[in-house]
Amino acid sequence: MFVDSHAHIDGPEYDADRDEVIQRALDAGIDTILTIGTGDPHSGALERAVALAERYQNIYAAIGTHPHDAKLFDDQAEGRIRGLIKQSSRVIAWGEIGLDYHYDNSPRDLQREMFRQQLRAARDLRVPVIIHTREAEEDTIEILNSEWTDSKLRGIMHCFSGSWKMAEMALELGFLISFSGSLTFKKAGDLRAVASRVPLDSLLIETDCPYLSPEPFRGRRNEPARVVEVARCLAVIHARSPADIGAITTVNFSRLFGPRIEEAGQN
Ligand SMILES: [Zn+2]
Ligand SMILES: [Zn+2]
Repeated sequence: MFVDSHAHIDGPEYDADRDEVIQRALDAGIDTILTIGTGDPHSGALERAVALAERYQNIYAAIGTHPHDAKLFDDQAEGRIRGLIKQSSRVIAWGEIGLDYHYDNSPRDLQREMFRQQLRAARDLRVPVIIHTREAEEDTIEILNSEWTDSKLRGIMHCFSGSWKMAEMALELGFLISFSGSLTFKKAGDLRAVASRVPLDSLLIETDCPYLSPEPFRGRRNEPARVVEVARCLAVIHARSPADIGAITTVNFSRLFGPRIEEAGQN
């Protein structure tokens, strides 16, 4: 039993064989997938993710505007995301949102502004958030502290690649810390050291597919079935079995999204 807490299987990379990819995930014991609808919010990308979650029992959606696309986010995009979250109980989170100073695909001041705006909207709707942060630790911490801390809502630090200081801050906020295939890379010793300090009840696993295929599949298109490799790696780090890690992270996921998932199940 495993949850892939962050996948982009609504994307065009899977148009040719999406059903097979989903079936392989089920066969590997991945009974829940959270697909993340990002991209240009005016292009139909959000709607595509929601439609996928409506179609498959084991798929939920998160939607939001990625920091890469901050320059495309506006009030109309916010209205669209809000509308979809209200309309479909299959949408369980707002994200991924945050800051990416590694690629700088959108100007940093705009990234910060749109991050704040989306946090406020998610807070207003009372939904958890999924945070993408890369080489922007200080600003991420500052913005979460000012916009999110007293919301009493939680979220996920996805594809965690930060320092222990960043992890500690996320844990203080009640966030779950999700590790991807990058944890399995040979040079990721520092990251594995951080992962060893994260308490079991705050861990999640993800693929972030189609990106970041874990070892031994590195460089190839990733898919949800391979989240098992991340569980294997965390199992070694925490001296548990992969099945334990699967079960523990599944419980963590349910605790975070429980009320919204129950609501979705009734519809
Ligand atoms: Zn991301
Ligand atoms: Zn992502």
